Amino acid sequence: MFMSTPVWQRSRVWHREEDRDFARKIGFKLPILKQIALVELDAIMVPDWARKKAIKGLTITNSSVWLRRIAANFLCRLDREAGGTPRLTVTDYRRCNNCKRVLLGPDAQARFELDRKYEGQRITCGPDCAELQKSRRKRKVA
Ligand SMILES: [Zn+2]
Repeated sequence: MFMSTPVWQRSRVWHREEDRDFARKIGFKLPILKQIALVELDAIMVPDWARKKAIKGLTITNSSVWLRRIAANFLCRLDREAGGTPRLTVTDYRRCNNCKRVLLGPDAQARFELDRKYEGQRITCGPDCAELQKSRRKRKVA
């Protein structure tokens, strides 16, 4: 029985196991639910460095900007030192893998729960998610 089994078949089985381990290690990473904050300034305007560090896809005004934790804390300190009372609103943040849209709060949490499942990554984040994905692909081809 054993002698009749071709060698290449055995090696193929071995490779398949290796591939599975590889996918587990590199192909499928568990997602992270990040947090960002809306900083609303009181005494100062949003400086240039904060505009550069702002989360792409979210609104920036002269007095408010979306930032990650360290930048947000620093900007709050600057505003306080200038005599203002900055407001910091922290929320969950995740980007949709399909349409690259920014998702906040409960939407980000829902996306995160989906992304934790292997098949869930393909599920759309909203009614226009698939449409946006298609138009994005077309733009790449053109
Ligand atoms: Zn989407």
